[in-house]
Amino acid sequence: MPKQKIYKLLIGTNNKGKLREIKRLLPKNIKIYSTSDFNIKSPNENGKTFKENSLIKSKYFSKKTGLICLADDSGLEIDFLAKSPGIFSARWGGKNGDFSKAIKRVYKELNKKDKNWKNKKITARFICALSISYLDKEIACVLGKIEGKISLKPKGKRGFGYDPIFIPKNRKITFGQMAPHQKQKIDHRYKAFKKIKKFL
Ligand code: IMP
Repeated sequence: MPKQKIYKLLIGTNNKGKLREIKRLLPKNIKIYSTSDFNIKSPNENGKTFKENSLIKSKYFSKKTGLICLADDSGLEIDFLAKSPGIFSARWGGKNGDFSKAIKRVYKELNKKDKNWKNKKITARFICALSISYLDKEIACVLGKIEGKISLKPKGKRGFGYDPIFIPKNRKITFGQMAPHQKQKIDHRYKAFKKIKKFL
């Protein structure tokens, strides 16, 4: 890990929801660039874990721009579905990242597995791997998690992705019903961020 401070940082994501959330968490003295400033497409995420995919992205975007890059890979694990969609969370939304399609697929898979799934507690967690790389070198790579359960139906219009179907542990409402500042104080990205902050 280089001792010098980071003044410029590329956020390696083409997902606007994630970019907005990550920007809010970063120290204000760092000049932030996004992949849309450079018009770079995302690389093939062919890793087997969240950490591997996060590193694929941070190294790829750093090499493309010559900037230090912070990238994440995140998703939802549903225990009753053998941890699916997991690293395929974005892919369940199809080519156009249609989250209502991804949510429908979750309910379809739950029904397929057990018609009575609504009588069970469907435990799940959001996971976020964050990594910082400079060119091909890993500077840091950490994991953050938030435990919870799947709601019986989608609720709330806030947030993005699977937010309307995820109820965090010890809460009664979904991420989709929560104010953004409430979600961001407890979520997987924030927890990973707390761990990686010391490298910035
Ligand atoms: P990736 O990290 O770009 O591969 O995509 C992760 C996918 O997981 C997103 O496209 C969302 O579908 C889902 N996801 C990750 N974090 C969140 C979150 O905070 N709320 C809702 N969905 C999320």
